[in-house]
Amino acid sequence: MGVFGLTTRRSNGLHKVMQSQWRNLSSSKTINGDDSILPVLIVGAGPVGLTLSALLTKLGVKCAVLEKSGSFSKHPQAHFINNRSMEVFRKLDGLAEEIQRSQPPVDFWRKFIYCTSVTGSILGSVDHMQPQDYDRVVSPVSVAHFSQYKLTRLLLKHLESLGFHGQCGEGLESLSGSKILMGHECISINTTANSVNVTASFLKEGKYMKKDIQCGILVGTDGAGSTVRRLVGINMRGERNLQNLVSVHFLSQKLGQYLMNERPGMLFFIFNTDAIGVLVAHDLEQGEFVLQMPYYPPQQKFEDFSSEMCERLIYKLVGRNLADMDVIDIKPWVMHAEVVEKYLSCNSRVILAGDAAHRFPPAGGFGMNTGIQDVHNLAWKLASVVKGIAPTSILSTYEMERMPIANFNTALSLENFRAAMAVPAALGLDPTTANTVHQVINNTVGSILPSKVQKSILDGLFAIGRAQLSDFILNKNNPLGSSRLAEVRRIFEEGKSLQLQFPAEDLGFRYLHGAVVPDSDRMEDAPNAPTGRRRDYVPSSDPGSRLPHMSIRALSKPHSEEMVSTLDLVSGDKVEFLLIIAPVESSYHLAQAAFKVAQDFNASMKVCVMWPDGTVDAVARSKTALAPWDNYIDVVEVRQSATLKSWWDLCQMTYRGAILVRPDEHIAWRVKSRVVSDFTSEMKKVFSTALGFDSIYQ
Ligand SMILES: Cc1cc2nc3c(=O)[nH]c(=O)nc-3n(C[C@H](O)[C@H](O)[C@H](O)COP(=O)(O)OP(=O)(O)OC[C@H]3O[C@@H](n4cnc5c(N)ncnc54)[C@H](O)[C@@H]3O)c2cc1C
Repeated sequence: MGVFGLTTRRSNGLHKVMQSQWRNLSSSKTINGDDSILPVLIVGAGPVGLTLSALLTKLGVKCAVLEKSGSFSKHPQAHFINNRSMEVFRKLDGLAEEIQRSQPPVDFWRKFIYCTSVTGSILGSVDHMQPQDYDRVVSPVSVAHFSQYKLTRLLLKHLESLGFHGQCGEGLESLSGSKILMGHECISINTTANSVNVTASFLKEGKYMKKDIQCGILVGTDGAGSTVRRLVGINMRGERNLQNLVSVHFLSQKLGQYLMNERPGMLFFIFNTDAIGVLVAHDLEQGEFVLQMPYYPPQQKFEDFSSEMCERLIYKLVGRNLADMDVIDIKPWVMHAEVVEKYLSCNSRVILAGDAAHRFPPAGGFGMNTGIQDVHNLAWKLASVVKGIAPTSILSTYEMERMPIANFNTALSLENFRAAMAVPAALGLDPTTANTVHQVINNTVGSILPSKVQKSILDGLFAIGRAQLSDFILNKNNPLGSSRLAEVRRIFEEGKSLQLQFPAEDLGFRYLHGAVVPDSDRMEDAPNAPTGRRRDYVPSSDPGSRLPHMSIRALSKPHSEEMVSTLDLVSGDKVEFLLIIAPVESSYHLAQAAFKVAQDFNASMKVCVMWPDGTVDAVARSKTALAPWDNYIDVVEVRQSATLKSWWDLCQMTYRGAILVRPDEHIAWRVKSRVVSDFTSEMKKVFSTALGFDSIYQ
């Protein structure tokens, strides 16, 4: 009773702190009620901003989006959606299924091909799909290959179904949320004690006009060159300007047909004496491609890449004329490897996510995926603050959890970038040499010689470099060529070229500090340094991990064959914790205490009673053991083969353990084998940490 009384007083006190914090944050009359202040304003309608608006809307939080462009970009950019992002999309009412239906067949994109031209000799090819990628044992959904602009389209369709609508010109008069204000650029941010005031600029009848919008919290998802980041003075740390690239978006049905029939693949790494580039086959059936080529300013200029010049380069890289080639768009971009020094500013009223918070090499496809997972972490925390369940201090756990992941993924993307360079380096085309040559020219003759002469020198040196790829050198009878080809073979045999999938990092990332309670009996290890090599995901119930997936069936539907995933037990429609227990007496007592504590914290919690494989009917027992609480579900684990482990073995726990899962499907707390004795005080400690109350006193 002593502990109980103390924590009750503490939790009541904390609720007062929390309520006054939110009142300060956005004024008492604003929380989803009176419309004078919008609870959350999102700046930037890229995939990350749109995903956040969908997640928040589903959680019942009013939000609106400002987008500076008048229309959505059709440049394909990202295309690889990893496993965890697909799990996030699965929670958006069928979005993952729609992506799977709409994406190209997997046999058209499972390989990376290294060649001297798209129609020329193949130096090697790597198949990135393994049998376990299809069997849905570790996840209810698999990875996808789907262009970013098509994903944007589906996200918009989904938002429409949630009541969102796009609007051009002046808008947001009523500030009622559920709007995407197109053509509105965020140009200034001012914070007061109670709110954030944003000024947006928009074009009306040929004139630039300004509009002020007041919100409780502003989330900057405005991309790599983030204005929000600049306006609140957050710096980035890391390596800048690693490489300048030109991205050429083009269509050719003929090329698509050829590749579907002869050598289907996702990425084509092409090296020949005339040009070097990476061709991304976004959709072979639609003949949609993007060619990425490095260039070296100021000697080589982006403006030099006219449509005609790009068509010529494509011809050289494809190795044949494409009569139907249609160059749609040519864009420059710069590769960086940077993460912000902090994710939150202005007393947590301004928050960064996606490329605004981190920008890294696209090798491995972690950019957009990391951003989508940022906002999945953030959405339930924002909803908890707006709904008065958690204090604003929970938002600091967003930075504590996501910043280490961004730093890790930056290092992994750099490793991947290096792995992508292994083959050209083995062919005598070390890109670091190209960068060094370029730097030497910049630092020596750069200030003396006219730019045209510098360009000729650079072009000449690069042509000499590419001459390494001539048939004369690169053939089995030439000792140098033969040893280079042998080295290339070795890279493929040892799996040391660029990988597509990273299951251990994709599903296995884990939050060590934040809204999680570490195991009491263990020191937490920092994750191993990234290797850039494929490592399989090992399911884990360590605090901070994503809840392992297992197929289960609801016992309330004894005759139904319908199976769902353990991940489906976590609601996407409300901020709700999930306690998973086995049907043993002490665990039912724990659940009773947890229900009461959750209620005291004003938080929702559901209990899942996990019955062993083969159980047919056990519903009555849980009903009696959990009464008067009724937010529970009895499920039975479904082991699809005798070799598969039971739920508790999979989690490396015993059936006497218990797991508390957060609304983002990450594990907040677990007890491995023995339920603690003082259930109530343990649960108070756990909810206090998971809801960010602990951070108030830090
Ligand atoms: C060649 C290439 C290939 C890639 N491939 C992959 C991949 O396969 N997988 C992957 O995960 N990632 C990939 N990426 C990275 C991915 O494209 C980005 O990480 C992703 O676009 C980030 O999304 P975002 O929503 O954070 O930002 P963005 O997509 O940049 O969206 C930001 C939005 O904010 C708007 N905006 C900017 N400033 C303002 C302002 N002041 N006011 C209002 N609106 C504003 C912009 O117009 C834009 O619409 C790739 C990147 C490149 C360049």
